[in-house]
Amino acid sequence: MKLAMVRSAAGTTFDRPRLARVDDQTVQIYPDDAGTLDDYIRNPAPMALTGPSQPAPLDQVTFDAPVRRVNRDILCTGWNYWDHFEEGYGKRGGQDPQERPAHPTFFTKGPHAIVGPTDPVAVDLELAQAWDYEVEIAVIIGTQGRSIPAERAWEHVFGMCVANDMTARDIQRQHGGQWFKGKSIDATMPIGPWVTTMDALDDPAALELRCLLNGQVLQQARVGQMAFDIPTLIAELSWGMTLYPGDVLLTGTPAGVGYAREPQILLQPGDVLVSEVVGLGRLHNAVQSVPLHEYRR
Ligand code: MG
Repeated sequence: MKLAMVRSAAGTTFDRPRLARVDDQTVQIYPDDAGTLDDYIRNPAPMALTGPSQPAPLDQVTFDAPVRRVNRDILCTGWNYWDHFEEGYGKRGGQDPQERPAHPTFFTKGPHAIVGPTDPVAVDLELAQAWDYEVEIAVIIGTQGRSIPAERAWEHVFGMCVANDMTARDIQRQHGGQWFKGKSIDATMPIGPWVTTMDALDDPAALELRCLLNGQVLQQARVGQMAFDIPTLIAELSWGMTLYPGDVLLTGTPAGVGYAREPQILLQPGDVLVSEVVGLGRLHNAVQSVPLHEYRR
């Protein structure tokens, strides 16, 4: 199944985004009382998806982010494709590790960075100059677990979708060698367009990611190229630390990010950023100048 949250369909804008199921070129939209996808992930009662639904053509639907009520920060993986680890060598402001890590590198980003799959993403050239893109697969946890063995990891996954771990590199480097601040800027993490549940995915390792800027392919890789595969990420992250339904885990980005290129390619207002995973869908986000540096309350 492909499950989503829909803001509007065929000319009707809903008061609150609605739970929906995407069937090929048709989207079945459930009534408001069916709850949200965040609710369904935590309590996948079959009832929620068997009630009346209204169909709308896929091309007449505006999607919201499929998940918004995350339990805590978004859980993230760094350096999970070795070609990406190598491409940044000597370009990390003195923050390079000595050698390839033996275990996955984890960090988090703030959930307020989330925007929908076709929303603008924010940049502010007064706040930071080095705005960068990172296409990634997002794993949504469906079943609680601690110290989950890798061979049982998929049992704990609700589904997967596409995300972009957009990063203000200069802010990332400025704050003590941790990544939280530069990856938590408001309105910089598109996610969606829907969550594909595990029963609809034959071979997650065969999925292919791509990131395009203004139509130019800048990142392209297969999930099978990950340094640590998804079951290993789940096993290591959950080691002594409970994962809960609704937790979101980004799984790292492949080579081709902007700061490591020569010359660099950094996001500018007016750019169009496309992040896609064949089989999971596509995010299409205009890069928009937003005065994030201005005091606002
Ligand atoms: Mg990343």
